[in-house]
Amino acid sequence: MSTRLDVEDIVATLRGCLPDDGAVGLHEPTFAGREWDYVKECLDTEWVSTAGSFVDRFEEDLATYTGAEHAIAVVNGTAALQVGLRVVGVEAGDEVLVPALTFVATANAVSYLGATPHFVDSDEQTLGLDPAKLHDYLEEIAEVRGKTCVNTQTGRPITAVMPMHTFGHPVDLDPLQEVCDQFHLPLVEDAAESLGTRYKGTHTGHRGRCGAVSFNGNKTITTGGGGAILTDDEALAEQARHLTTVAKQEHPWEYLHDEVGYNYRMPNLNAALGCAQLEQMPSFLERKRALAAQYRDAFADVAGVTVFEEPSFARSNYWLNALLLDDAVADKRDALLERANDAGVGARPAWTLMPKLPMYEDCPRMDLSVAEGLERRIVNIPSSASLAPAPAHS
Ligand SMILES: *Cc1c(COP(=O)(O)O)cnc(C)c1O
Repeated sequence: MSTRLDVEDIVATLRGCLPDDGAVGLHEPTFAGREWDYVKECLDTEWVSTAGSFVDRFEEDLATYTGAEHAIAVVNGTAALQVGLRVVGVEAGDEVLVPALTFVATANAVSYLGATPHFVDSDEQTLGLDPAKLHDYLEEIAEVRGKTCVNTQTGRPITAVMPMHTFGHPVDLDPLQEVCDQFHLPLVEDAAESLGTRYKGTHTGHRGRCGAVSFNGNKTITTGGGGAILTDDEALAEQARHLTTVAKQEHPWEYLHDEVGYNYRMPNLNAALGCAQLEQMPSFLERKRALAAQYRDAFADVAGVTVFEEPSFARSNYWLNALLLDDAVADKRDALLERANDAGVGARPAWTLMPKLPMYEDCPRMDLSVAEGLERRIVNIPSSASLAPAPAHS
């Protein structure tokens, strides 16, 4: 571990990896496929809203691409998380285990259901939820009564675990699934950042009961705004589809709704964009890997900092590259962020830990020392696919 960090050297190294024509954002979309054709088709046929052939096609393409049995396209990733939690049985008054180090949507999705996020520490090797530490913690505070896991300190049922695959790197799902089995907890993956990421060969997002991906403008592919629920479970898929289409029963003309559903279905215009984007996934992934390798080479001999690399069991999408500052120089993080942004490099810190946000400060949590360390040390750096050259064969 180095005690030295040369901010100027780091910024120069970053600039050396990036095009020298001006400011470079953290993650920007690439529209190099059939986006115009497909969107124009929506306008020409006047199918722009939630009924339309691109929605079905996008769902089929997503299922094929991810290997999930079912994909349900919705308005955004947060809605997908909310519905995913709802269909595995999370109810008001429950607790859901989520990482402390995540984007706020993970915790918000829990709150929308009237449940309470319960914060879990991270693993240095994955940047995501730590299964071993979670296991030991649950041994201490939880008890399985009948088929329900109960937090003995709050008296509330714990009804799901929702890990998040940070920056596109998967958590260690095998040991996590064991913890879930032991404590009767359904696993719901926040795979918002991990489209294209594989864990031991399986695409993330449908290893647990279900998962959610996001197609926001800054994600690996975008539909403008959008998300999807992935699952291999037909009953869950049906329930999710029903809930996201205002719980309307099939009927040629009657308006029959059998519960309070949501208007969450993805519009055709967005799905058209998604179909075109998904066709480019192989080239996006190749370019993002090339950029990550370029950063790793460039920083190999730079003191005080390492470029985060995928865990051994993973093939990550490298959605966002991350520099990890050595602990001893973490106090230089803000100076680095400032210099980098001044130099046109769109660098960003990790998210503020959830329990530091006012609405989550009273939520239950375990010891979060690893997440706290990571929060101080992470600097995300520009990661758009367009920053690496297009593969020669495309
Ligand atoms: C982007 C993101 C979401 C939410 O996706 P939206 O489509 O923006 O609602 C959820 N969780 C994580 C970790 C994300 O990065």
